[in-house]
Amino acid sequence: MGVSDLSAVPMEVLPGLDPGADLLDVRDLKVEFRTRDGVAKAVNGVSFTVRPGETRAILGESGCGKSVTAQAVMGILDTPPAHVTGGEVRYRGVDLLRLPAEQRRRIRGNHIAMVFQDALSALNPVFTVGFQIGEQFRKHRGMSRADAKRRAIELMDQVRIPAAKQRVNEYPHQFSGGMRQRVMIAIALALDPDVLIADEPTTALDVTVQAQIMSLLGELLRDRRMGLVLITHDMGVVADVADDISVMYAGRIVEEAPVHDIYARPAHPYTKALLESIPRVDVQGRRLNVISGLPPTLTRVAPGCAFNPRCRYAQPVCREDPPPPLYDVGHRRTSACHFHAAVTGDA
Ligand code: SF4
Repeated sequence: MGVSDLSAVPMEVLPGLDPGADLLDVRDLKVEFRTRDGVAKAVNGVSFTVRPGETRAILGESGCGKSVTAQAVMGILDTPPAHVTGGEVRYRGVDLLRLPAEQRRRIRGNHIAMVFQDALSALNPVFTVGFQIGEQFRKHRGMSRADAKRRAIELMDQVRIPAAKQRVNEYPHQFSGGMRQRVMIAIALALDPDVLIADEPTTALDVTVQAQIMSLLGELLRDRRMGLVLITHDMGVVADVADDISVMYAGRIVEEAPVHDIYARPAHPYTKALLESIPRVDVQGRRLNVISGLPPTLTRVAPGCAFNPRCRYAQPVCREDPPPPLYDVGHRRTSACHFHAAVTGDA
């Protein structure tokens, strides 16, 4: 979906909003894709919450269901082939999945906004960036062109695009990758949403620019008391930004924990393997590990634990029985592994 596809309706208060409720409370969300090859359960009972000023990272390999989760929360999945088959997506207590399409559209941009992965394809090449940022104010707030342009310059300043007054008249191709991503963030912030969903916002950027964008997102989050859902495959990206991490594998959350605990003491073999596959400055003289094999094809997931063909802790029970649901393993951490104690070394 392009950034200009947001609804052209003015912001209004949604009936039933509870200011005391979590910003976002996703419960047992299920999404499946009905294809010619069969039904792929892309999101299979995912739950998480986000509070004001908090960042929830959803981490996993390509195809694990993290982006589908984000799109289901935003209500921008293509149906068919995607179908939300169960669960709740509560925004300040209101279940968005039960709202009529028109009301759902009002949420997008106004209350929950998304920063897309590929700024170059999300931005329209034939309009200036100022026009595209200003479009939010013209469409949603009924502002004049001049006022919308003035607000666009203010937003470009806020996301630290240098010489905003001059650059507001430039086109996306005249911006570097990092600056284009800042434009995307400006568009997402335009209507002052409570929740920002950033889907791999730094994937196409080099490491220094990645750090700048993540630090900018962190500052904006603190200043505006927003909630951030950060979708990423990169454990390095989340370390300094996230409060809590949900690790996803084959459509399910397999481990959930505060960020520092997950780095210090992972409680699921998949999380542990991911951590062993990245270089860390706090662990020296260690060989990097490769997670052998590939994630399962979601139309043909074998019985038992979906990670078992790749898991060095697997036992016969893992091939026969499904893994346990996420359960408390202490210190606000949950794991969906029969043998979490072997992973943490408590066994
Ligand atoms: Fe590995 Fe078994 Fe735990 Fe699955 S349940 S992650 S296969 S040890």
